[in-house]
Amino acid sequence: MAYEENFQKTSEPKYDCLLFDIDDTLYPFSSGLATLVKNNIQDWFVDLMAEPFFVVVVGAIVEYMTQKLGIEEDKVQELCLSLYKIYGTTMAGLKAVGYDFDYDDFHRFVHGRLPYATLKPDPVLRNIILSLPIRKVVFTNADKAHAAKIIARLGLEDCFERIISFETLNPTTKTESPVAGTGTREIFDISSYMANPDPSVELPKTPVICKPSEGAFEQVFKMTNINPHKTLFFDDSIRNIQTGKRVGLHTVLVGTSHKAEGVDIALEHIHNIREALPELWDAVDDKAEEIRARQKVAIETIA
Ligand SMILES: [Mg+2]
Repeated sequence: MAYEENFQKTSEPKYDCLLFDIDDTLYPFSSGLATLVKNNIQDWFVDLMAEPFFVVVVGAIVEYMTQKLGIEEDKVQELCLSLYKIYGTTMAGLKAVGYDFDYDDFHRFVHGRLPYATLKPDPVLRNIILSLPIRKVVFTNADKAHAAKIIARLGLEDCFERIISFETLNPTTKTESPVAGTGTREIFDISSYMANPDPSVELPKTPVICKPSEGAFEQVFKMTNINPHKTLFFDDSIRNIQTGKRVGLHTVLVGTSHKAEGVDIALEHIHNIREALPELWDAVDDKAEEIRARQKVAIETIA
């Protein structure tokens, strides 16, 4: 047994893939986008949001809910929070309870005003990623346009084998209306439900596939042929990390040094990968050693 373990350790690397979230993982919240004004969002609301990036965009989400979906202003923040908690993202929740709107319209509205220009290239991260000869895949709930913009601003365009975005898991169906509207479906009153939860009432399901649902992870594994048991998953959201752990991934919570349940490694900053996971570079060192040894033999043979 000891021999087997040892053999495995030396013959096969523990990880063969790195799976990254984008927002607040590949770049920290403090690096620029945080400067966005949180128009009229109450402090209690901000305090309850676990994910800083969500706090940044929530002003726009709330505006979308009032302006485009006609939701009353005094109810909108509470509704936004309930949906986020139950469904993982507010958008997934809005679809579940019956609002009809176009995904692209929502994303354009919410991400359209982000100050992307304040984000700077990150050559340190780029070097870290490129120095690892294993698979690197991105898995974000954000839309394709937002993901591409952030990755380009960070100077990481050639660092990933594939970017799994909102559209990858939720290809647009032809039945959806091209413009946002309230539609004709009856809206499930989730606020009343939350105020008085009734176990006999089944909550409506969302058609949106996104983190932190286990199904979203399973789909990504299938699409990319990822083995979760050999993959390190980096995300700033504890909810995503905990689901990731349940589906077999090795987990790295980014943005804090505090370890919680489901977290294998906690990294204050993505730049700390090298210190926290030196074994990732073992394979690189072994390869370099092998090349050196081969060169030595070649030189000796020639001599
Ligand atoms: Mg994130």
